[in-house]
Amino acid sequence: MSQQNLDAGAALLKNYARYDVAFAYGGGSYLYDINDKQYLDFLSGIAVTSFGHAHPLITSTVMKQVNKFWHTSNLFKSPLQESLAGKLAKMSGLDYAFFCNTGTEANEGAIKFARKWGNGRYEIISTNGSFHGRTMGSLSATGQPKFWEGFGPLTPGFAFVPYNNVDAITNAINENTVAVLLEPIQGESGIIVPEAGYLKKVRELCDKHNLLLIIDEVQAGIGRTGKYFAYQWEDVLPDIVTLAKGIANGIPLGAVLCKKAVGDLMTPGTHGSTFGGNPLAVAAANVVMDLLDEEQLAKITELGAQIKAAILEIGDDRVKEIRGKGLLIGVEFDPVIDAKAFAKKLLENGLVVGTSSVTVLRLLPPFIISDVEIQKFIMIFKETLSAIPA
Ligand code: PLP
Repeated sequence: MSQQNLDAGAALLKNYARYDVAFAYGGGSYLYDINDKQYLDFLSGIAVTSFGHAHPLITSTVMKQVNKFWHTSNLFKSPLQESLAGKLAKMSGLDYAFFCNTGTEANEGAIKFARKWGNGRYEIISTNGSFHGRTMGSLSATGQPKFWEGFGPLTPGFAFVPYNNVDAITNAINENTVAVLLEPIQGESGIIVPEAGYLKKVRELCDKHNLLLIIDEVQAGIGRTGKYFAYQWEDVLPDIVTLAKGIANGIPLGAVLCKKAVGDLMTPGTHGSTFGGNPLAVAAANVVMDLLDEEQLAKITELGAQIKAAILEIGDDRVKEIRGKGLLIGVEFDPVIDAKAFAKKLLENGLVVGTSSVTVLRLLPPFIISDVEIQKFIMIFKETLSAIPA
């Protein structure tokens, strides 16, 4: 393919501000563009390809499934889904798993599950700065008005309170409230980590008022923070958990996990998805769950600490704060550096990173990142940062 073909995208909707790079193939922690230029991938497709590109075991498992069948519908028993649901139940402490395709769809499911359980109570308390997806229910649950503009009227039944503030939730509870919906770390508004104890206090509040606690683990879940699910850092058990992104290493898959009391109300016909729990995705996810053992989780925590320490060691005073847990890392600068412009320069220098809000660089390396690759990351990061005038 020639570079000219990149300009042939006139028919593609312009809803993304895409970088002028097209990847052709990948392997492990690296991506290669159409001119064979190598890039170190510290984005993982936005927290998706956690076990890297072209992982031998995931790839061979999916290829075996490709040769069996791709789709049969959810009208029939699925041993692959049953196996994955069992693994997720064991990891999460919850009872049931429903499979869909994306994070926004998982949150749509969670909203429906909560309303069903509420039996007339419908209002969900969400937080300012949250991100739960782009479809109408999840968009309406998202506490960032900039994403709502032009798409009203929104779905009713959501209240918003400041994040990391338990009293604000207490004050927002009324007779219609059915649930509290939270990200354990806010991933899209700057990698915002709440105070230790926040989730535990919210859990207690939900118990006191007979409310469901819904945790959106779409970005922070499936090992990304060094636990299977980020809520496990606080030793709480939510009533509903939503998942997607890293669950199948890049094949679209989402999930809603829930307690028995909630899930038993979702009887045949109440919810569904044609593609949800597709055999290719679920085959991949079963391998992801097997790879994600205690040893791997401990390594994620170690690698995260190593990357943070290495950034601090550079000694550039402009690094104001490094936030996050495990391999979900945000870096903020003072004076402010435009994150998108910095990410673009890093890309030119062979490093793929993300951004979160306009001022935070988001690092989401794969869990398989090696010491040598971390050193390479630091080298590119340091050189690129030093070329930005102070
Ligand atoms: N929830 C959270 C916390 C997310 O970070 C995202 C995506 O970034 C979503 C939901 C939406 O997921 P998807 O893009 O798969 O619909």
